[in-house]
Amino acid sequence: MEKNIAVIKGDGIGPEIVEEAMKVLDAVAKKYTHKFNYTQILMGGCSIDAYGVPLSDEALEIARNSDSVLLGSIGGDTSTSPWYKLEPQLRPEAGLLKIRKELGLFANLRPAYLYEELKGACPLKEELTEGGFDMMIMRELTGGLYFGMRSTEVENGELIARDSMSYSEGEIRRIARRGFDIAMKRRKKVTSVDKANVLDTSRLWRKVVEEIAADYPEVEYEHMLVDNAAMQLVKNPKQFDVVLTENMFGDILSDEASMVTGSIGMLSSASLREDKFGMYEPSHGSAPDIAGKNIANPIATILSAAMMLRYSFDMDDEANAIESAVKQILAEGYRTIDIMSDGKTLVGTKECGDLIAARI
Ligand code: NAD
Repeated sequence: MEKNIAVIKGDGIGPEIVEEAMKVLDAVAKKYTHKFNYTQILMGGCSIDAYGVPLSDEALEIARNSDSVLLGSIGGDTSTSPWYKLEPQLRPEAGLLKIRKELGLFANLRPAYLYEELKGACPLKEELTEGGFDMMIMRELTGGLYFGMRSTEVENGELIARDSMSYSEGEIRRIARRGFDIAMKRRKKVTSVDKANVLDTSRLWRKVVEEIAADYPEVEYEHMLVDNAAMQLVKNPKQFDVVLTENMFGDILSDEASMVTGSIGMLSSASLREDKFGMYEPSHGSAPDIAGKNIANPIATILSAAMMLRYSFDMDDEANAIESAVKQILAEGYRTIDIMSDGKTLVGTKECGDLIAARI
């Protein structure tokens, strides 16, 4: 298979970690006889320096015409970088918001996976995580409270602020369908999270999710109130497979889920739309404090590339090969500095990528 990938290395550690992900993708291409064509585009601070804008129209067009986008991370030190003295719409993050909006990426996926070898970093008690956990938080990204009408006005002599939340059946249907599709590639369980005891949007959410569930008889599904879900994530994380939820609940729950894994350098993510197109990036930022030192952990980006193979290209075996290679180097005791512990072998960014690529 031949695929065209737009590559955004970005700022800070972005170029270093994306380089390693491409190295691993090349190892996959070689073993499984695929061809990945990369077109590099600029976004974030490096694009501001080159073109005066965080994402040029030309770069956006290249991304739009590709099969998927692989992104490192963008942004600099927010207190010292001159990029943060610019108007908000010209700052690095504006490029990210623009590409998500322009490409219609409405579904955000963040896996939270506890590696046996890294369970010491998990802040939960050992008896709660025995045997590990493996969940996928699926968050609606372009609707709900964050995109509703808002206002702050003086009424009766005091300020009153309003935010409004709305969801259409169509918005719910498309994310729910994506969630059930993803569950079919996993352990076939969906937990739909809402606040249906209070909110109308949640009652509609529940109704539409039930309609979609009827098309997936193999998938076990349940509804859970968001307050209970927040509690269950730290009480019994093993019960979850796909957690399907709206924008604000997903924002909060995905951070909670990633914290319980304990290691930021390991967390991948994807933003998808209705077709196979997606943008894949690590959950962490550009880590300017460690940029250029060959010490950043490239695994989150490498695992994001695995997600790209699975969800955009339907290359499940190839994605499994990357995930197994990551597990293997951890089992062999190799660690980057962020996940280092006594008795393990410290490796740099490049060596970590080499080790994973060699195990494909
Ligand atoms: P960060 O995630 O970049 O870093 C937080 C801490 O984690 C730092 O100490 C960093 O060294 C460490 N860290 C992060 N990734 C690591 C890795 N792969 N290996 C080893 N250590 C790692 O968050 P921050 O410092 O708050 O933000 C830095 C910049 O990144 C800011 O400009 C912010 O806006 C931007 N940011 C970008 C994205 C994105 O591109 N999607 C996401 C979050 C933050």
